[in-house]
Amino acid sequence: METVRIYRLGGLAPSTRQRLQAAQREAARVWNLCRELHQDASLGHQPWPGRDALQLATKGGQFVLHSQSIQMVCHQFLANVQTTRQLKPTHPRMRYPYKPKTYMTVQWPAQAVARQGKRLILPMGRGRKALRFRLDLPARIGAVSLVWHGGYELHMVVPAPVAAEAPGAAQATIDLGEIHLAAVTTTSGQALIVSGRGIRSLKRRHNQSLGQLQRKQARCTKGSRRWRKLQWAKARLRARTERQVRDRRHKATRQVVRLLQHEGVQVVFIGDPHGVRGKDAGRHHNQRMSQWEYGKDKAYLQQKCRRAGILSFTGSERGTSSRCPTCQRRQKVHGRTWMCKNPQCRFRGHRDIVGSMNMHRLAFGHAIAYPSRITYLRPAQDVVAAGAPACGRGDPS
Ligand SMILES: [Zn+2]
Repeated sequence: METVRIYRLGGLAPSTRQRLQAAQREAARVWNLCRELHQDASLGHQPWPGRDALQLATKGGQFVLHSQSIQMVCHQFLANVQTTRQLKPTHPRMRYPYKPKTYMTVQWPAQAVARQGKRLILPMGRGRKALRFRLDLPARIGAVSLVWHGGYELHMVVPAPVAAEAPGAAQATIDLGEIHLAAVTTTSGQALIVSGRGIRSLKRRHNQSLGQLQRKQARCTKGSRRWRKLQWAKARLRARTERQVRDRRHKATRQVVRLLQHEGVQVVFIGDPHGVRGKDAGRHHNQRMSQWEYGKDKAYLQQKCRRAGILSFTGSERGTSSRCPTCQRRQKVHGRTWMCKNPQCRFRGHRDIVGSMNMHRLAFGHAIAYPSRITYLRPAQDVVAAGAPACGRGDPS
């Protein structure tokens, strides 16, 4: 299995910045050439250029890039055409690449990347100076891409060890939420709630700051110096928030997987909250819901589970949050505490834990008892709450 390690290139010398910018421009030129060839062939009812034709057309030192970086652009272009072709019958409005690009991510496949001690060497073609970066490199390195993300970043493919198999035989379910990023219950009687409030507040701050900048920008002439400065500020803000949210998301999902490992979980069901966003609930709540990225939570959890050797599967969680776990009565949910209105039952419990408990019946066909102890965690913390299980503190996973 492979993961991507991201290196942010801060404090670059102006000359280096210029070289990186020039490299991205060259990659875009390669793309534009491929696009022109494709469009010409398509308009002239000629066979579309394939791999060999594109490689031939881009050969011969016309571009200031390493030959394999040029090839990567061609491959990407062809992959793009292929995908469009497949999706065109079902998505008639989809278009083959037609826009000219100004900048593009530059890629180096694994065999083109070299290292010299702590230095990463990215070749720029025969007879030209290679790009060199002093980085904290892992033992084995793979393909590298030069990405613009409100600043330059190197994305490096790194092999990740995979655990053979989970040690235990327990089962668990995860209820994803916006206020509580994940509510986990296991058949071993453990329950964990990871707060999503940190991410929520980061996004709220982002929305407010962005609004301020946008109001300022509205008073400028479009394209003026001040307008452009504000445009930059917006890009920086966006990139920063994205990094902060990503960091929290990794920390939160890691905490979940740590608990699963500690409890010897073999199989985990991740409820898919699809459909929650459909209904209109006022502009503030609608914004929150549209910014809730549960797909990412799900993807991160699946990846981390795979690395830990835990089997994960997903499915609809429909109806799990509105059913009483003891008497099966269905009712509308109000507030954070679930209170059963059945006079014979009178069950009380945490709303998200109830959702997670009901998923056990849905996914594994048997119910579990309400956990006697619930651990609350915030993504930044390691282990918390009075009497919480010290699940694998400090182990890197
Ligand atoms: Zn009940």
